[in-house]
Amino acid sequence: MSHVFPRHTKATLPLATRGEGIYIYDSHGKAYLDGSGGAAVSCLGHGDADVVAAIKSQLDSLEFAHTGFFTSEPAEQLAEALVANAPEGIDRVYLVSGGSEAVESALKLARQYMLEIGQPQRRRFIARRQSYHGNTLGALGTGGNMWRRAPFDPVMVSASHIAPCYEYRGRAEGETAEAYGLRVADELEAELLRLGPETVIGFLAEPVVGATAGAVPAVPGYFKRLREICDKYGVLLILDEVMCGMGRTGTFFACEQDEVRPDIVTIAKGLGAGYQPIGAMLCSGAIYEAIEQGSGFFQHGHTYLGHPVACAAAHAVVQKLTIGGMTARAATMGGYLAEALHDRFGAHPHVGDIRGRGMFRGLEFVADRDTKTPFDPAKGLAKRLKAAAMDNGLICYPMNGTLDGQSGDHVLLAPPFICTKPQIDELVDKLAISLEAVL
Ligand code: PLP
Repeated sequence: MSHVFPRHTKATLPLATRGEGIYIYDSHGKAYLDGSGGAAVSCLGHGDADVVAAIKSQLDSLEFAHTGFFTSEPAEQLAEALVANAPEGIDRVYLVSGGSEAVESALKLARQYMLEIGQPQRRRFIARRQSYHGNTLGALGTGGNMWRRAPFDPVMVSASHIAPCYEYRGRAEGETAEAYGLRVADELEAELLRLGPETVIGFLAEPVVGATAGAVPAVPGYFKRLREICDKYGVLLILDEVMCGMGRTGTFFACEQDEVRPDIVTIAKGLGAGYQPIGAMLCSGAIYEAIEQGSGFFQHGHTYLGHPVACAAAHAVVQKLTIGGMTARAATMGGYLAEALHDRFGAHPHVGDIRGRGMFRGLEFVADRDTKTPFDPAKGLAKRLKAAAMDNGLICYPMNGTLDGQSGDHVLLAPPFICTKPQIDELVDKLAISLEAVL
């Protein structure tokens, strides 16, 4: 009998015993192609010798030194490498242990920044519906997935929410993509005016919406307009790249493709590539200076901040993503993945939309392509697709509630960047077989 508290008490899970390249093997020797990198984590695949060596070498010299007493070489090197590749203006890196911690740090830093600059009346955040920013209470309070929020609503400090930039469902007939983008971006200004802009700290968004919407990028011009609105009202733009960052979309930071400069950006998942739990919150030099010249310290912290082994692993990952060419590979192989998905599912009667960037792709399922009517949630399509895919030796990330937390189904694909073309074909074949089995 197991004493592990699992995610689902009724599920019987295979026992993972080994990973190699893009496959995970269970205790019976069955291979599972990791088509979603777990949840967009394993960007380098499993068993990467360089990352493993970096971890071992760090363990041989120093396993831990509390950041209240010391800095460490791996933390310094990692921060330097991240800032060297970060959007303009980003200058400091706060190293935590995962995505939710990164988002919590971002929210608290944003609030403290407002105190430091003498604007204590700013106390609200605005985010978007159908976004996910983590499961700790602060991060969950900004998230816009109503199903995930509902049970905890009474105990959360909630953000208010505007519409996502979700072209497939939101763009009106005859409206250009640009006009649609400006229309939904302008919801931020309307919400600021409704709340009183002087009470708002920041606006939080995923450049490419991951888990809860299925790889939904914004249309051109959308994020630039958001930036203008934030600047007009002195509100911070906080981008959550926990899932879509670190090369996943074909650029090191996803927001590079939206040509937007955040004040704060969060990363995790691909940063540790699954080799170590690590996340980071990066902020602009201006925000850091306000703290430095103000109270002198960020009133936050966790025991495992800047863990040396996690930082050594992440530094090796970042080296591979940047000078090692893995982000460029995500762009090219991502193009191949998109082609393969369009070839296979482009005319499928129940695939309404194929979207995403780089090695971050989503398929939205519909009962009817013309009317875009979703499947009845009672059918449990996403859940059954996940089970069928596992039977067929494929790890993918299906989710329901795509439209509003209740209706709609999609599958998210986020394979390792090391995938070859035949392996991408294998992924697409396995997905097609699994989909046929459940439809
Ligand atoms: N932000 C985004 C965009 C995410 O996708 C996730 C996790 O899926 C998180 C935050 C939370 O990260 P973690 O699960 O590492 O706490």
